[in-house]
Amino acid sequence: MGKINVLGFEIANLIAAGEVVDRPASVLKELLENAVDAGGSHIVAEIRHGGVSAIRVSDDGCGMTAEDLPVAIRRHATSKIKDAEDLAAIMTLGFRGEALAAISAVSDITIVTKTQDAPMGTMLVAKGGEVTELCEVGAAEGTTVLVENLFAHVPARRKFLKKDATEAMACAALVEKVAMSHPEISFRFLIDGKVKFSTAGDGEVKNVLYALYGRDFASRLLKVEGEVDGVTVGGYVGRSDNSHGNRNMQNVFINGRFVKSKTVMAALERAYTSYMAPERFPVCALYLELDPAHVDVNVHPAKLEVRFSDEKKIFEGVYWAVRAALEQSTSRPEMTVGKQLSWNKPPATAAFVPVEKGPAPTQIKIPPMVQKPQEERREPMATAPTLTPTASIELLNKLHTPRDQAPLPTGTLGSPDELKPMESRPVVKETPKEVPTVVAPAQEEPYQASAPGAIIPEYRYVGQAFNTYLFVEVEGELLVIDQHAAHERILFEEMLSRQKREGRVGSQGLLLPITVTLPPTEMGVAREGRGELEAIGFTYECRDATLSITSIPDALTPKEASDMLKGILGEMVEGTGTPAATESVRREKALYQIACKAAIKGGRIYGEAQLIHLIEQVLSLPDITVCPHGRPIAYRLTKKELDKQFDRIK
Ligand code: ADP
Ligand code: MG
Repeated sequence: MGKINVLGFEIANLIAAGEVVDRPASVLKELLENAVDAGGSHIVAEIRHGGVSAIRVSDDGCGMTAEDLPVAIRRHATSKIKDAEDLAAIMTLGFRGEALAAISAVSDITIVTKTQDAPMGTMLVAKGGEVTELCEVGAAEGTTVLVENLFAHVPARRKFLKKDATEAMACAALVEKVAMSHPEISFRFLIDGKVKFSTAGDGEVKNVLYALYGRDFASRLLKVEGEVDGVTVGGYVGRSDNSHGNRNMQNVFINGRFVKSKTVMAALERAYTSYMAPERFPVCALYLELDPAHVDVNVHPAKLEVRFSDEKKIFEGVYWAVRAALEQSTSRPEMTVGKQLSWNKPPATAAFVPVEKGPAPTQIKIPPMVQKPQEERREPMATAPTLTPTASIELLNKLHTPRDQAPLPTGTLGSPDELKPMESRPVVKETPKEVPTVVAPAQEEPYQASAPGAIIPEYRYVGQAFNTYLFVEVEGELLVIDQHAAHERILFEEMLSRQKREGRVGSQGLLLPITVTLPPTEMGVAREGRGELEAIGFTYECRDATLSITSIPDALTPKEASDMLKGILGEMVEGTGTPAATESVRREKALYQIACKAAIKGGRIYGEAQLIHLIEQVLSLPDITVCPHGRPIAYRLTKKELDKQFDRIK
């Protein structure tokens, strides 16, 4: 007797259903993608009991004709591809013609739809894949799909469902992504009758982020804009004071589609290296546009991971665009005190009012649920603190390739001539021309990150504690500065701007060259990477397997310098060919290391004049939030908080 059975239609459907539909969120995903594909401009999604008892999606898109509707729930029924050639060119979201079939196989489904031309709408009801009703109904243009009793007939699957609240959260996360990928469409999402969020559909990404994550989040964003080699990168990233404890708020869209990309994440996080504490994660809504031929989106609709034909180009595109946004942000430092306080109080101008004009086609009623008509409306969004326009990627690239470029007239981050006074700070004072300098160990020249004449707010130095922390009263607040972290950051900025200006950091010649013996691979990169290493203060000669180092960064001791050089050469060897190890990234990392070694050490005693100079530099630099290693450098306490501590106010 033969062992192979040809599976019946229904069983085949159930198996397919398992692939596409494994939980409420995946049903919702398919329905939303269909609604988007149908060209709707207002989409309403609603779930009950985590989506298990009901999921409803309504759109005002093209609708289906009476003939097409029953076909739509059959397997491999799709209006989106006819042959294999179409598959390659597909740009719509759904493309396997399987979703509705799969969903209807495991639930009770009701679809009401009407095209523009049809005088009447059509309604289809199917239970467990069997059509039980098909009739004409009065309906608005567009489509509403109601999915009920999900997995009611598939106990095996039902068992794997998590608590309603967990499923609801997965649904919400999904609708968020879809809403972010289509800022031009207004989405409304309801859980058990309560509006969770509602986006305006005005095409503004920022308004979507506001609607999803709230005012505080939306006011701490930096705009990203850049283009490298046909890869356009846009959207928003969080300021360094707007971070997250995991990667869940890293939203990446490629050609309008939400994806997961290790390369994009790596580039994003790399760009934040000196802007964020290591245990925190940047948040973003980044939109990449590139030739679809260069993206390999896995054909399985449930997989989100993508690959690119040129990962390095993507890495560079994202890295530079995000970096530019961070460096261009000249907002005052957000010195955080555990909880986040904004230094820039955003003006209370309403720049966003949620739009409520959707047709909200609700022909299908979800039966016996408690309706809470009262919508949770967010307050109008205040305009975020001014975001400086981002520089072009080309300009930034130039700034980061100092060796063979003519010095540019203006520096970037930390460059004194770009520091502008904050408007909100009327009391200013000039830094005294003659300032005592803090001389770092092994450092000959006084460092000067802020120019004489840099405008700083009026402040009062209160004192030092534990030989480590400096207390400064400034504008009604008490700043607590970690002197080591602050110094490190200032040295780093100084070196970076000097490198940009002069092509290299300060370097000291050695009377006796240090010789090190290296394996051939490292000698190879030493020969090729000469320019790169000179930019960070190293010169050397190569003979066979020995390198004799003739000059080193002037902030380092010879021992520190040779160890560091060996480390860098090792990294260069490892990094050959990998996108993450770009020259500029390595160079910056090297500068951190130098800065760290050169910085005054917390715990040592320094003269007050030196400390005051340090404070003035901290106050004069833009966006000094964290040290080059990403540790916070300052912490601020408002008078109000102190008053609260002592029960002066409630
Ligand atoms: P696919 O989206 O891969 O084509 P589906 O099973 O999701 O497969 O949908 C089958 C077909 O039903 C679609 O190709 C489309 O023609 C039609 N359809 C589904 N949902 C909608 C909708 N909301 N509006 C208009 N047509 C729809
Ligand atoms: Mg589909």
